[in-house]
Amino acid sequence: MNLEQNIKKIRADFPQLGISINNHPLVYLDNAATTLKPKVVIDAITHYYSFEVANVHRGIHTLSEVGTRHFEETRVAVQHLLNAREAYEVIYTKGTTDSVNLLAQCFGKKFLKPGDEILLSLMEHHSNIVPWQMIAEVTGAKVVVIPINAAGEIDLVEYKKLLNSKTKMVSITHVSNTLGTVNPVNEMITLAHSVGAKVCIDAAQSIAHMKIDVQAMDCDFLIFSAHKMYGPDGLGFLYGKEDLLNEMPPFEGGGSMISEVTFEKTTYNVLPNKFEAGTPAISGIIAFKKAIEYVLELGLDNIKTRELELLDYATSEIKKISGIRIIGEAKEKSGVLSFVLEGAHPHDLGTLLDKQGIAIRTGHHCTQPLLKHYQCSAAARASFAFYNTKEEIDIFIAGLKKARDFLL
Ligand code: PLP
Repeated sequence: MNLEQNIKKIRADFPQLGISINNHPLVYLDNAATTLKPKVVIDAITHYYSFEVANVHRGIHTLSEVGTRHFEETRVAVQHLLNAREAYEVIYTKGTTDSVNLLAQCFGKKFLKPGDEILLSLMEHHSNIVPWQMIAEVTGAKVVVIPINAAGEIDLVEYKKLLNSKTKMVSITHVSNTLGTVNPVNEMITLAHSVGAKVCIDAAQSIAHMKIDVQAMDCDFLIFSAHKMYGPDGLGFLYGKEDLLNEMPPFEGGGSMISEVTFEKTTYNVLPNKFEAGTPAISGIIAFKKAIEYVLELGLDNIKTRELELLDYATSEIKKISGIRIIGEAKEKSGVLSFVLEGAHPHDLGTLLDKQGIAIRTGHHCTQPLLKHYQCSAAARASFAFYNTKEEIDIFIAGLKKARDFLL
């Protein structure tokens, strides 16, 4: 589909794009934090709560069977989205953060011992740092940091030097939520495998913006959140290779994840249920299939092209504003533009833009070690989705100039 030609129709699919904030039409440039939801997703949630409420995997009545079928259809849709070998290699979680916690705990208990090393890059989101620190503390393993260069790209020479027989896990982001850098994950996975390490790819910022093929990448694990891809919040995914998921112990105990329970000993269910204790986010899971269908209908290649055009335009326009320093100038970037305005606090900028109806993110973006590296404690960030337009970027740039004139 040609997104430019259909932009009016596409924007009309997102009710929130029609609202006003502070008496200005909303310009939503905070898509890396969370994306807006198309009507098909909202309708699917409403439909479930209006007519199809039932728990899954638990009843033989019609509603439970229908619900379970829809619930499992989303798993198959995610399998196809990722090109996973099997649907049961897709585990439902509460989000990317929950997926990393699951992985760190379960992988760690099975595979990590004192002296082992977990490699993380300097640009990781806190959610891909803290869970690994927590399991390192318990197991005696060590977190080792892969440095980045001035442009905000992973230093591959240093990365190669850090890999060794003690490296058990490399957990890296596909796209940095602060820098926008697209990391060379294929090469990094091959290198990690050459020393026997496993690799987890944090796809929170890539899943909605480019094609992903876990078999071609050969990653061992991949994680993302539904809300970053036009879907509901409170829902995420962990893809894992079947043999590794089978070897790992379960995460949480409770209903659904068991095979048989006695007070003496409990045996666990097969994949994927082994990792899915309790009643899941049924409405969101069912609705997320609509988000996947919506994105695939637009085409991930078309989305990528459009968002890069928006990024290029915004980058060239923002560079014309004196005093702006862009944080993250990698050769390969996704639609994320972080910056600081010398002499102005990002929060003040964010507040003044909000008064003009423009939503951007300000703060540390859950990447404190990274911002420290860039010698700032906070930055402003505009992040783009396919429904944004050049006109919105013009409004953003004009708003930024107005804010600068007010503040400096
Ligand atoms: N990883 C990256 C790169 C992110 O951008 C985010 C969220 O911003 C996360 C992980 C955490 O995602 P969630 O808050 O949905 O668990």
